[in-house]
Amino acid sequence: MKNRTLLMIPGPIEFEPAVLSAMGAPTTGHLAASFIEAFGQALERMRQMFLCPDGQPFVIAGSGTLAMDSAGANLVEPGDSALVVNTGYFSGRFGALLERYGAQVTQIRAVPGGCPSLNEVEQALAADPYKLVIVTHVDTSTGVLADVAGVARLARQYGALCVVDGVCSVAGEELRMTEWGVDVALTASQKAIGVPPGLALLVAGPRALEVFRARKTPVGNYYADWNNWLPVMQAYEARKPAYFATPPVNLIFALNVSLGLILAEGVEARFARHARLSRACKAGLAALGLGQVPLSPKLAANTMSAPRFPSGVNGPDFLAWAAAAGVTLAGGLHPAIRAEYFRIGHMGAVSQGDILATVGAVEAALASCDYNFTPGEGVAAVMKALEA
Ligand SMILES: *Cc1c(COP(=O)(O)O)cnc(C)c1O
Repeated sequence: MKNRTLLMIPGPIEFEPAVLSAMGAPTTGHLAASFIEAFGQALERMRQMFLCPDGQPFVIAGSGTLAMDSAGANLVEPGDSALVVNTGYFSGRFGALLERYGAQVTQIRAVPGGCPSLNEVEQALAADPYKLVIVTHVDTSTGVLADVAGVARLARQYGALCVVDGVCSVAGEELRMTEWGVDVALTASQKAIGVPPGLALLVAGPRALEVFRARKTPVGNYYADWNNWLPVMQAYEARKPAYFATPPVNLIFALNVSLGLILAEGVEARFARHARLSRACKAGLAALGLGQVPLSPKLAANTMSAPRFPSGVNGPDFLAWAAAAGVTLAGGLHPAIRAEYFRIGHMGAVSQGDILATVGAVEAALASCDYNFTPGEGVAAVMKALEA
């Protein structure tokens, strides 16, 4: 018997065995031929995954927050204006870090579960000039999916760079950097891209690099400064070693393995699989009478679900029962509604079996919490959605 629960939180996720064996392989030096090849190939594959053939990928040791920090540090100069399309906790974090670099930040907010409309974004852009527009593709605190294509189009129209926090979306949600006019997209290894925590991943498009190169002031962050990393990324892609700070060798081997699996599945097939499994998960939850934090199905992410607890169900008890039934789920994160909902991550290597097991564990936990429902209805709805 496998002595573990299924990890269904919005990162870290379950990883492919081939990725985990790369993590456990003997560590090479960062100048080893095999590492140079793997790093170079991973950078090329990043461009393909982000659908940004002319972008510059960055792979840096750190978490998703470092990827956000690196975008802020390298693109903001003191006094610049930034507009944040705020859909929850992580949008707020982006605004706070931009202020640290001296930006004047305007946040357009929505109620928890909502998303500012494109009209509101356009009104803000028409009223004042902005250098950056920040949008969180999937805010992991609410499960809200933003219209990145629409925001990027407006940003371009009003002469601002569009920066996408894709930490809970890249390699799961449909995201087309070049086609949609997204200037920077970033993520972290432990989410849908399917590698244990420890890598900050970012692709900067040509306009973002131009803005970076035109800086008049030094980058206010030494470690994240693209001037330090650009020569390293360019060298490895040209299959030459370079050093600024020791790369996390095993994580980069593992990233290359995961990107290889992702591209073998196909980016389009991967988007479609996430959409299909998300529909099935949400159908199962709805059949059990659970509402969702996103205010409408159109606003709901495909990489995760944020179901509301039915009244009378105690959150911590529910999560403990779900774990006892074999599935680890996450509690709420948005401060305004933290106790009212829980979160399910369904991204990366997620399968239909995982969705069935998860909704089964949700049923078991609801039963243990004395919630009144017909056992099996959630799982039946998942199966029906999977057949459709
Ligand atoms: C997880 C997450 C982050 C933070 O990433 P860390 O790796 O925890 O630093 C930022 N934004 C979004 C949307 C996330 O889901």
